[in-house]
Amino acid sequence: MAPDDLLEAATSELRSEARAVRAKAHGNRVTYSPKVFIPLTMLCRDRCGYCTFAKPPARVRGPYLSADEVLAVARAGAAAGCHEALFTLGEAPEDRYPVARAWLDEHGFASTVDYLVAMCALVRDETGLLPHANAGALASEELARLRPVSASQGMMLESLDPDLACHRGAPDKTPPRRLATLESAGFLAIPFTTGVLVGIGESRAERVRTLQAITDAHRSHGHVQEVIVQNFLPKPGTAMHNHPPCPPEELWWTIAVARLLLPPEVHVQAPPNLSDDLRPLLDSGLDDWGGVSPVTVDHVNPERAWPALHLLRRATESAGLTLAARLTVYPEYTREPERWIDAAMRFAVLDHADADGLGREDPWCSGGTEPPPGLVGISLGDDNDNDGDGDGDGARGMPSHRAAPAGGAVHEVLTGVGLGQEVGEEEIVTLFSARGPEVRAVAEVADQLRRDEVGDVVTWVANRNINYTNVCTFKCRFCAFSKGPLSLNLRGAPYLLELSDITERVVEAEAAGATEVCLQGGIHPSFDGDYYLEVIRAVRQASDRIHIHGFTALEVTEGARRLEEPLVDYLGRLKDAGLATLPGTAAEILDDEVRAVLCPDKINTEQWLEAHRVAHSIGLRSNVTIMFGAVERPRSWARHLVRTRALQRETGGFTEFVPLPFVHMASPIYLQHKARRGPTFRETLLMHAVGRITYRGWISNIQASWVKMGAAGALQALQAGVNDLGGTLMDENISRAAGASHGQLMDEGGFRSLVEPLGRRLEQRTTLYGRVPAPC
Ligand code: SF4
Repeated sequence: MAPDDLLEAATSELRSEARAVRAKAHGNRVTYSPKVFIPLTMLCRDRCGYCTFAKPPARVRGPYLSADEVLAVARAGAAAGCHEALFTLGEAPEDRYPVARAWLDEHGFASTVDYLVAMCALVRDETGLLPHANAGALASEELARLRPVSASQGMMLESLDPDLACHRGAPDKTPPRRLATLESAGFLAIPFTTGVLVGIGESRAERVRTLQAITDAHRSHGHVQEVIVQNFLPKPGTAMHNHPPCPPEELWWTIAVARLLLPPEVHVQAPPNLSDDLRPLLDSGLDDWGGVSPVTVDHVNPERAWPALHLLRRATESAGLTLAARLTVYPEYTREPERWIDAAMRFAVLDHADADGLGREDPWCSGGTEPPPGLVGISLGDDNDNDGDGDGDGARGMPSHRAAPAGGAVHEVLTGVGLGQEVGEEEIVTLFSARGPEVRAVAEVADQLRRDEVGDVVTWVANRNINYTNVCTFKCRFCAFSKGPLSLNLRGAPYLLELSDITERVVEAEAAGATEVCLQGGIHPSFDGDYYLEVIRAVRQASDRIHIHGFTALEVTEGARRLEEPLVDYLGRLKDAGLATLPGTAAEILDDEVRAVLCPDKINTEQWLEAHRVAHSIGLRSNVTIMFGAVERPRSWARHLVRTRALQRETGGFTEFVPLPFVHMASPIYLQHKARRGPTFRETLLMHAVGRITYRGWISNIQASWVKMGAAGALQALQAGVNDLGGTLMDENISRAAGASHGQLMDEGGFRSLVEPLGRRLEQRTTLYGRVPAPC
């Protein structure tokens, strides 16, 4: 709609169109940024008619917050699960107040911006929070100095009306100065937040002109990530205390016009603490609530408390939308870090991000000791209701327990699943985007499919891992298990088991009731394909009936290659010697773009698929694994699921799907600051549920890895499509090498304690899902 038409149109029409634009560009997701507010200085050289933030020196404890004060606030925010440290401050107070100048001189800073740079760096380095610098109108050189220490920056344009009385004493509020800042931020590729202040005396036409200027700047540089539409409220003690507040209808009109005028990818925000009724704001087309703090007040509007998170969520969900925590920099920018994020900030951003580039929702990590949030049904120690509203969510932004109708695209896909439709790549990506009540809806559908397909029995297998060597010639960047032949590190020396050790371990395993040994290890430089035959013989020396589940697609492909033997012949010899099934590991993510980052010298997607195709062709069955949550996005997960389903259609040889969430703690790629800290619990739960939905009719068994998810995580996975808890895994070394802390052995009693509260039956199985007769 042209600007003139916007001025003529009815508000109801504008709001309806704005909702449609939001739905198309952003789906049903509304974001907010969990933050702490750090008012570095409340002194300011400007005198704006509406402002109570700026104060004279006599009314503040000191001209600037000290470094200790800054850190105390930031640390409280980090402990409460915030991602953002919002630095808001007055403009160049040293030009007006001698006390500010003296403080800076005494502390060795040339300017307020100098001090801000130092404090942003301190907060980033000491707490990991992402600074957002909101320092007003700055010169290009000042913006550039802030770029390496902040993930994003911002400055309200407010209004381009040059005659506003409220700006008469404010040299930094002149339109040319602020437009120059906006433009410079674009040239410097700074993800930038700006906005308009509504109701300070400007006309609608002036507001449109201001929004148009923001649009023009964004079209030139692509840097405007969000536009805040903020309503003026009069405050006692200000020049405008008698000025009428911005009427709500005027705010709604402006939100809708902003949504229609700005390019669709620019997010539109309105502060939730400045309106009593949130629903009309949502109905006007916004898709972001801005920063909300569980720790600090809004220092610009201290009289208006942030809404409690559960109320914000409730308001958002009651409009058929979902709420998601975000970072101070939006996903559109984190996806292109080389362009938008300074190298010095990239890891801090990555470390807070989930696979969508939004904020991690809880402190749970695969293999870690933090309990998972309760996302579905019954969960262990279900005490996450930190905000006390009885819905089981908490201050960290965890999705709600309440059963709520899923809306939007996720709901559409689930409706199709209910009608028996098969999900393709696009639908799978949509399912992975589920948030809040949608997660529960996806889990419920998966749980029903599980019930239909395999009933209420939960299975487990008694097995022992034997990792014959941790020496490996490959250089998988995620792998904390492998050692170069000569390396030593804190997690242990390189080793190669003697064949007699393998025999002995099998004897012990069988004596302890194991029905399976799981054999895998590094690719030792001395191995040729015959080594694996020797391993099988060593196992058979101990037992002629234990099931040999062994050798990844990489190991058998490499074994055949080193012997220069066709894979089918080589696998045939392994089978004749006693190999019964292959593990699906070495799949990682079956998407070559991702493999090029994670494991560039390993077999590629097609080679992995081919190894399993050949194995299935001679009667060796195998399983599908996915190691997810390191560097890739949900589209790669979808490709992995679709490609393995296609092979299953062809061969029918896969017995189960085993999601393996990436354990980051000791992983080289994480320690090099190039990977996320594994999937979030929401993503992990969804992987099981979406796997169940994707493989419907093709793979009946979905397994949860208790080693990586912990017992509490596995319990929730059992309510999201999972019917198998995998093995007892005496001697699980690979996850532990990566830092997992969930023990080396689970027993039948441990499995039973998970299954019984769900009213389901536990059964021991064989590797191929046959029943194990109970001992006499
Ligand atoms: S994942 Fe396997 S192939 Fe890759 S380095 Fe580790 S042990 Fe070697």
